[in-house]
Amino acid sequence: MKFNTKTIHGNQHPEPSTGAVMPPIFQTSTYAQSSPGQFKGYEYSRGANPTRTALENALASIENGVAGFAFGSGLAAIDAVLKLLNPGDEVIAGDDLYGGTYRMFTKIYEKYGIKFKFVAGSHKEDFAAHITDKTKLIWLETPTNPLLKVIDIEGVASLAKGKDILVAVDNTFASPYNQTPLDMGADIVMHSATKYLGGHSDLVAGALIVKDEELAEKVHFQIFAGGGILGPQDSFLVLRGIKTLGLRMQRHAENAMQVAQFLASHPKVDKVYYPGLESHPNHELAKKQMKTFGGMLSFTLKSGKKEDSFKLLENLKVITLAESLGGVESLANHPATMTHASIPAEIRAQIGITDDLVRLSIGIEDIEDLLKDVENVLDLI
Ligand SMILES: *Cc1c(COP(=O)(O)O)cnc(C)c1O
Repeated sequence: MKFNTKTIHGNQHPEPSTGAVMPPIFQTSTYAQSSPGQFKGYEYSRGANPTRTALENALASIENGVAGFAFGSGLAAIDAVLKLLNPGDEVIAGDDLYGGTYRMFTKIYEKYGIKFKFVAGSHKEDFAAHITDKTKLIWLETPTNPLLKVIDIEGVASLAKGKDILVAVDNTFASPYNQTPLDMGADIVMHSATKYLGGHSDLVAGALIVKDEELAEKVHFQIFAGGGILGPQDSFLVLRGIKTLGLRMQRHAENAMQVAQFLASHPKVDKVYYPGLESHPNHELAKKQMKTFGGMLSFTLKSGKKEDSFKLLENLKVITLAESLGGVESLANHPATMTHASIPAEIRAQIGITDDLVRLSIGIEDIEDLLKDVENVLDLI
C-alpha cells in the first residue's frame, strides 16, 4: 500500500459489531468479564481502549513500524523513551531541539543521573565523536525546531548498528508523509500528534512508533505502568486527522516554498531558514531524505531588531500569532519569547535563535492571502 492509501486504510477495519467505518469513541474505563480473568481483549482503559487501539494501529502503518502508542502529549511520549534508560546512561542529542524537549532532558532527567551531550552539525561524523560505551540513546529532531537544520538520519543511525544504542527521531516537523525514519535505521519514531497528525489545532497528543516487537513490549510497559495515555475522544480526532495527512502536507509544502521564496527576495529580510531553498546549507541532504521540504520556515530581519519582529507579528491579519504548528491555519511565533523561552538566553544565542527570529507554520489557506499578509506587515517596518 502506498502512503495515502495507508493513512485511510492501513491496519484499519470497520468496527466488528456494527460495521461502523470509523471506530466509535469508546468512552469507557472498564470492560465486563464473564468470569475472573475472562474478557474480550480489553480489561481497563489505561492498558488498552479500542478507540486508542485503532489509532495506534494506524500510527504503526503510516510510520512502517510494528506497533504504535498514543500518549496524552508529545512530551509524555518523550518521557516514556527516557524512562527506558538507567542512571549513568548517556544521551547524544542534536543542539537545536524543541524547547520542551531540552527542558525535560536538562531539568528532569539530569537530576536522575542521565547525561546529555548536545551536538551541532548534521552529519554522522559530528555525532560519532561523542559516542562512548555509556551512550544508550541518540535523539534526533529533523528538520529542527526552529532553525530547520536537517540531520542525516541514515548516517547517524548507522553509528548505533551492532551497539546497545537506541536511535529515536522526533518526526513532528516532517511527518511520515515526508520521511519514515524507521526505514532509515531508527528504532523509535516520536510525534507531537498535536501538530501535523492531528492537523486541526484541536487537541494535544503524542505518539511513539517502534521498529520491533522487543521494543514494543518495553514501550508498552512504560505506557501501561507510567500511565501517560491518550483518551478515546482525542484518539478519534487524531485518527480522523491522519486520513487527510497526505493532502494537507502537500499543500503545506507548496505554500511554504512560495512564502520562503518571497521572503528570500524581500529587501527587509535577512536570513530565511527553509530546507527547500537552494541557499539552505542542508538543501541537498533534505532533497535526498525528504519527499517535500515541509510546511515550517523561519526568518530574520535585516534590521535585526526584536521590536520590528514584534511589530510584524502584532499586525498579521490572516496568520495567527500563537504557539504550536502543523494545523490547517497558518501560525506565527517568536521563538525567543514563546516556544523556546525555556532555553537559557546564552544557549539560544549560541545556536542562532536570535531575538528577531520569526517562525512560521504555513497552513493550507490560499497562497495569495498568505503572501499579501506577509508583504503588508513587512511594509510596516
Ligand atoms: C510540540 C512539539 C513537541 C512537544 O509536544 P506536545 O504535544 O506539545 O507535548 C515535541 N517536539 C516537537 C518538534 C514539537 O514541535
